[in-house]
Amino acid sequence: MQEDCIFCQIVAGVVPAEIVYQNDEITAFWDQLPAAPIHILIVPNRHISSVNEMEAKDAALLGRLMLKAREIAVEQGVHDKGYRLLVNVGKGGGQTIFHLHLHLFAGPHLMAIHG
Ligand code: AMP
Ligand code: ZN
Repeated sequence: MQEDCIFCQIVAGVVPAEIVYQNDEITAFWDQLPAAPIHILIVPNRHISSVNEMEAKDAALLGRLMLKAREIAVEQGVHDKGYRLLVNVGKGGGQTIFHLHLHLFAGPHLMAIHG
């Protein structure tokens, strides 16, 4: 855990969040400033700053994050209609929280939303 990281604090239960799913590897919670009717963040419990800091051994973890996002899309009833998965990388890529996360967006007007 990185003490000053808000997502590490959410994973640890130190900072409250509306948790959708949690196991020993992955946590998913509602975004506090939703950009779409459904806006959920899926994060690894282990602190990885961004895709830039990922190592080859983390590849399967990223795959499991995507599969978990799909599972949540099914639970939210948007799996058939479609949804968007987005990862911002670095400041220039729009990343503001430097703990790797996958955005799950769903709902109408998705085309205008880019995180
Ligand atoms: P990004 O711009 O890709 O780094 O996305 C960070 C996202 O985290 C934004 O959509 C924020 O609204 C969201 N966010 C920041 N702090 C919190 C928090 N404490 N709980 C839930 N979502 C958060
Ligand atoms: Zn962190």
